[in-house]
Amino acid sequence: MDTMEKITALTKRRGFIFPGSEIYGGFGGFWDYGPLGVELKNNIKKAWWQSMVYDRDDVVGMDAAIVMNPKVWEASGHTQAFTDPLVECKACHHRFRADKVKDVCPDCGGTFTEAKKFNLLTEVYIGTIEDNKTKAYLRGEITQGVFVNFANVVNSTRVKVPFGIAQIGKAFRNEITPGNLTFRSREFEQMELEYFIKPDKKEAEETFEYWKSVRMKWYQDLGIKKDNLRLRKHEDTERAHYAKDAVDIEYQAPFGWSEFEGIHNRGDFDLTNHKLTYKDEAGEFTPWVIETSGGVDRTALFFLIDSYTESEDRVILKLHPKLAPYKVAVFPLLANKEELVNKAREIFLKVKSQINPVAWDARGNIGKRYFAQDEIGTPYCITVDFDSLEDDSVTVRDRDSAEQERVSVDKLTGFLQNKLG
Ligand code: ATP
Repeated sequence: MDTMEKITALTKRRGFIFPGSEIYGGFGGFWDYGPLGVELKNNIKKAWWQSMVYDRDDVVGMDAAIVMNPKVWEASGHTQAFTDPLVECKACHHRFRADKVKDVCPDCGGTFTEAKKFNLLTEVYIGTIEDNKTKAYLRGEITQGVFVNFANVVNSTRVKVPFGIAQIGKAFRNEITPGNLTFRSREFEQMELEYFIKPDKKEAEETFEYWKSVRMKWYQDLGIKKDNLRLRKHEDTERAHYAKDAVDIEYQAPFGWSEFEGIHNRGDFDLTNHKLTYKDEAGEFTPWVIETSGGVDRTALFFLIDSYTESEDRVILKLHPKLAPYKVAVFPLLANKEELVNKAREIFLKVKSQINPVAWDARGNIGKRYFAQDEIGTPYCITVDFDSLEDDSVTVRDRDSAEQERVSVDKLTGFLQNKLG
């Protein structure tokens, strides 16, 4: 089995990612997140929001509707730019206007799909009366929800340029070739920052560089191996219709270097299209925008891939404790000894009142339980044994080193909180 097959099997078997509508044969490009997947995704979103909003005083958040007035997509250029005849490279999935390329992909030499006039925007019909419904779109990017609310945010808060608006939410694209598990889906979640600055070339370049390094650091701080990350500047032919300058943070996936997140200088493209301006003591102007646009699903997938470790006898997901679906697991040494189970249950509830979520496992033997927790990335396992009944201490085992240490129950929660950070 190759790495992607192993990851796909593990994520399904252990409840991270299921094929969407599986009992009806699935539905290409749609995925459901199970009990562990939803924890991983929530942890990613929490860590992102912490770093992009709470740790700063120049960024506010918002949450716009998925369906917007279709005029938004006309103004943003998406209805137009997404209806050209396009070909998509079967290998690297880069898309090109059919009239702009020859037989092979200029980026990787791969072959193309048939040229198709197609729109990435997913249509929806709103209204109750048949034959008289309004055609609208599920948003193709979450960005426009921020731009159309630019004046609302400025008028309702104390923000002053330079400032940012952060948002996390679902986006939908009629991708021609979904694949590589959740990497390219038709429904996915984005996490984006639109950072508004003065219309100044030098400031734009500096801000662009600044966000490049902030975002590269974020992935590394959460454990992505440095060698598996790189920045790639877009070629002139490749840039999206709105971008003046664009760089991708890429990850070395088993299927090749692939986009994690895009950082774009959108200039005044969007605010001008929506006829929005900004006023301060210096006068009225149209701010420029530096955008960081990442995907929650790709981040989850790449963190799973990067943390996947095989040792002689076990698989370990070496996920950062902040991202691990379960932080701690508690076991009674034997499931059929009532006093052990009661003691373990008491400790489980105590830890659970401070740390979330905590797993309980009383099946099989201890070795199997360690194996099962390593495979889902639980950083610490606690075993309650016969000595625990005498000395009120437990064994705490570290996922990565497999080392065990004895900790007294009254110090346990603090000990774990300290380790988990
Ligand atoms: P790609 O070139 O891979 O299609 P893109 O350049 O079209 O991506 P952007 O429009 O810059 O992507 O979107 C920003 C982010 O949203 C991407 O970096 C990615 O993390 C996420 N994203 C975009 N399309 C998808 C998709 N189909 N499935 C999952 N995530 C996606």
